[in-house]
Amino acid sequence: MDADMVSQVIEVANRVVASGAISANGHGNVSLRVPGADEMYFTGGPSLRGHLPEAVVRVGLDGTLREGQLPPIQAAVVAMHTALYGEGADTGCVIHTHSPFATAYAVTHRPIGCWIEALAMFGLPDGVPVARYGPRGSEQAVANIRAALRPGVPAVLLANHGVLVFHRSPELAVMVGGIVEEAAQAGINSVGLGGAVEIPGEMKAAALQRAMAFEERGTATA
Ligand SMILES: [Zn+2]
Repeated sequence: MDADMVSQVIEVANRVVASGAISANGHGNVSLRVPGADEMYFTGGPSLRGHLPEAVVRVGLDGTLREGQLPPIQAAVVAMHTALYGEGADTGCVIHTHSPFATAYAVTHRPIGCWIEALAMFGLPDGVPVARYGPRGSEQAVANIRAALRPGVPAVLLANHGVLVFHRSPELAVMVGGIVEEAAQAGINSVGLGGAVEIPGEMKAAALQRAMAFEERGTATA
């Protein structure tokens, strides 16, 4: 087991907990792809809160356990992670949680609309789609996730389950998880005021272009 990969996985788990985009019991899992190899390091523990390094496992992208002890209940969701590394060659991190506000959309089979700017800036101008329900980690569930995703979309709600985010780096994946939860919370809070209003189509593109222009200049000044 590579000690550096193990400590990186624990650091990401801690960041997810610190972000607040997680349910009270800390259920969820994090994986990191090993650069240049067809394998990942995966949180084999039942909760991301206080996850122990000893519970991190090494798993091939074909789903076979290569090192460590993986309880069956955690093994069941491995396919959800490996499928996403198969989809995008540049995916470096996958995070799954039951973050409460996003999960409220997941259990009602409702997509999260693009009503906060950050969604448009981070690859979700069409909001966060919902993958139809399938038993966790089953072929059906994985097929439903694939069917719901479009190229460049870094997040998907899992019907009757939770949320799945992924990106090239752990930092970006944690950030997207936080943005999805924030958008879901805003959506639910706005119901009493008549409901959230989506950003108009042409302005979504403008939000992204402005974000990209800042990134190119490497400065936050207007
Ligand atoms: Zn779950």
